[in-house]
Amino acid sequence: MAARPAPYLDDLNPAQRAAVEALDGPVLMLAGAGTGKTKALTSRIVHLLNTQRARPNEILSVTFTNKAAREMKERVGRLLGQVAEGMPWMGTFHSLSVKILRRHAELAGLKPNFTILDTDDQIRLLKQLIAAADIDEKRWPARMLAGMIDGWKNRALTPMNVPSNEASGFNNMGTELYAAYQDRLRTLNATDFGDLLLHCVTIFQAHPDVLGQYQRWFRYILVDEYQDTNVCQYLWLRLLAQSHKNICCVGDDDQSIYGWRGAEVGNILRFEKDFPGATVIKLEQNYRSTAHILAAASGVISANKGRLGKTLWTAGEPGEKVRLIGHWDGEEEARWIGEEAEALQRGTRGLDPVSLDHQAILVRASHQMRAFEDRFLTIGLPYRVIGGPRFYERLEIRDAMAYFRLAVSPEDDLAFERIINTPKRGLGDKAQGDIQRLARAAGVPLLDGAREAVAKATIGGKGGGQLRQFVEGVDRWHQVTLNPDYNHIALAEQILDESGYTTMWQNDKTPEAPGRLDNLKELVKALEQFDNLQGFLEHVSLIMDNETEEASEKISIMTLHAAKGLEFPVVFLPGWEDGLFPSQRSMDESGLKGIEEERRLAYVGITRAERICTISFASNRRVYGQWQSQLPSRFIDELPSDHVEVLTPPGLYGGGYGAAAPVGFGSGLEERVSKADVYNSPGWRRLQAGQSNRPVQQPKESRHVTIDAEAISAFTIGDRVFHQKFGYGKVTDIEGDKLDVDFEHAGPKKLVARFVIPAAQ
Ligand code: ATP
Ligand code: MG
Repeated sequence: MAARPAPYLDDLNPAQRAAVEALDGPVLMLAGAGTGKTKALTSRIVHLLNTQRARPNEILSVTFTNKAAREMKERVGRLLGQVAEGMPWMGTFHSLSVKILRRHAELAGLKPNFTILDTDDQIRLLKQLIAAADIDEKRWPARMLAGMIDGWKNRALTPMNVPSNEASGFNNMGTELYAAYQDRLRTLNATDFGDLLLHCVTIFQAHPDVLGQYQRWFRYILVDEYQDTNVCQYLWLRLLAQSHKNICCVGDDDQSIYGWRGAEVGNILRFEKDFPGATVIKLEQNYRSTAHILAAASGVISANKGRLGKTLWTAGEPGEKVRLIGHWDGEEEARWIGEEAEALQRGTRGLDPVSLDHQAILVRASHQMRAFEDRFLTIGLPYRVIGGPRFYERLEIRDAMAYFRLAVSPEDDLAFERIINTPKRGLGDKAQGDIQRLARAAGVPLLDGAREAVAKATIGGKGGGQLRQFVEGVDRWHQVTLNPDYNHIALAEQILDESGYTTMWQNDKTPEAPGRLDNLKELVKALEQFDNLQGFLEHVSLIMDNETEEASEKISIMTLHAAKGLEFPVVFLPGWEDGLFPSQRSMDESGLKGIEEERRLAYVGITRAERICTISFASNRRVYGQWQSQLPSRFIDELPSDHVEVLTPPGLYGGGYGAAAPVGFGSGLEERVSKADVYNSPGWRRLQAGQSNRPVQQPKESRHVTIDAEAISAFTIGDRVFHQKFGYGKVTDIEGDKLDVDFEHAGPKKLVARFVIPAAQ
């Protein structure tokens, strides 16, 4: 065969080249972050085509996210140029499985036009089955069953082969209900998400002829991010690759971050067993990050036990040290990051300007995004949220806002329609139709239509009583908003509480529910910057309107999970606080499994950065209007100090980066950053002493004011003050730096003056 030029090979190092050129037989590429695994995988696809070893449709390439699949298609497209016609099968496990399943639907008892249910439909169906089985849904919620079924499907377990020790789950009915659910799905000609892969696996296992057809078809299989495959995905791959064994998997055990969804890092370790004689290739040179960033990431991950252990090095510059900065609170953190991003965009400290497109903020939990979105919208810094809706577009936020809207304007029919039956009040289509008819006939808003329905007892049963409660609730809330000085935060909490909306998510057993509850808390937190609900709703509608303006450059905000495989010249990692990162759940777990997965997430985060990586934490966060003091993350202790620079918190020495000289560690002999280093840095001490914040425009009362020792004289007896734990109170006596305060709820206390802030009388 005539050799074609292969310029794409010239960009590879010898190990990568070996991985690309070992076209036949099993290949495992096991290597740390940024070593060019994905690059090698992509080049391998191009090489298969360029050497005419395979036609495009003979190649199957699997990635984890749609974004990764899109990027791979782009990379292959660029490298391919004119070489080949058509593209290989590239996609996620799910998208590829749908394609296969449509062709063989009848073997799974389905028709080719089957529908894929979303979670809501899935839950509705399970509820019916639970009711039919005479099980109390309150004790045994449908969402719990949904979680169990997903777990079984991830492990490729059909109802028939769920192990007997798990069959006792869900009131001894788990497997029976699972079987009934599968039957119902078939009758409905539907699948859920987990079925897509499981049906493929069962078809492959039961029909060797079909499997054989795909084995002949997909002669070369490639898998990126192999460390995150679950058992079902693993079986899917193994079945397809069994005959020709031309399978190339790339992964990094240190980046396994989906254990909570059933991913088994053991799949990497099993590879050599399943495919004896596999070529194992290690890549050790990192091309992505500067030496300081790489060393910081390696330092953190080295605290995990049971790693395969890999060497990583870079020929690149040492670059800037990883920057660590403590902030007073989350709002300050968002403000600082916004300013820093803009400074970097302009070009600061002798650095080349960095486009916002090349900057990213990676958060542990999606509720952290709210503070950034609000701040950026306020200052007009363009941003995009990757891998999920923006904060104010989230389902639970739109629901909660609809309640607020209705409380403020009872004639808001769109808001009414959105929440009249959320949570479920037994007011289905028929009841809602009745309400609409009554409202239309009288030419009044739906809420008044509902009032009419209550008066005429049009709607019977449980729905009737619930509708009365709903109408009374809205009337009560609306009354509150008519008082010019009403406490809107208390009202918001009351609405979410009395409407049953918070309870709905508390009873929800899906993995997303805790995140949704956090988002609701975050929403209440956002309210604190406004005087009332009206002002807040106005703010949101204005900022939502702004979104349509298309900016050319945008900073990206996403979760650490969504950032897997990506890279950015500038990365901000906010919220490194115990309880947030590592998450409280992982800290509460016995054993190290949870914490180790969080640590891998920290490693993923740091290794996304090419040139500048900034880790930050706040010493205060507010939850439901209460200050909560935070401890810096334990992962901060694990950063090797030689590679970290502690920055002075903003506002000191006049504020701004240039004026605030970075605070180093002095000798540099310490191996790790200790929290004491952070606390003892002059910047942090001054921050704690209350000289932290430059004057900032305060939407409402002086949220950021802290009182330092000299400022004690600022208090006089009778002053109203606020304490983060005890709430509001009045100063009754002053003695040195101590105050006697009579708190409205907590009663009299003696306190050090700097722990309270002045409050409005
Ligand atoms: P991750 O584990 O984060 O997914 P990875 O191992 O897949 O990382 P890539 O994304 O493929 O790494 O590569 C990281 C960066 O290094 C990319 O910008 C890539 O273009 C570059 N790179 C990879 N290999 C080389 C090479 N041989 N020469 C120069 N640059 C390279
Ligand atoms: Mg990669």
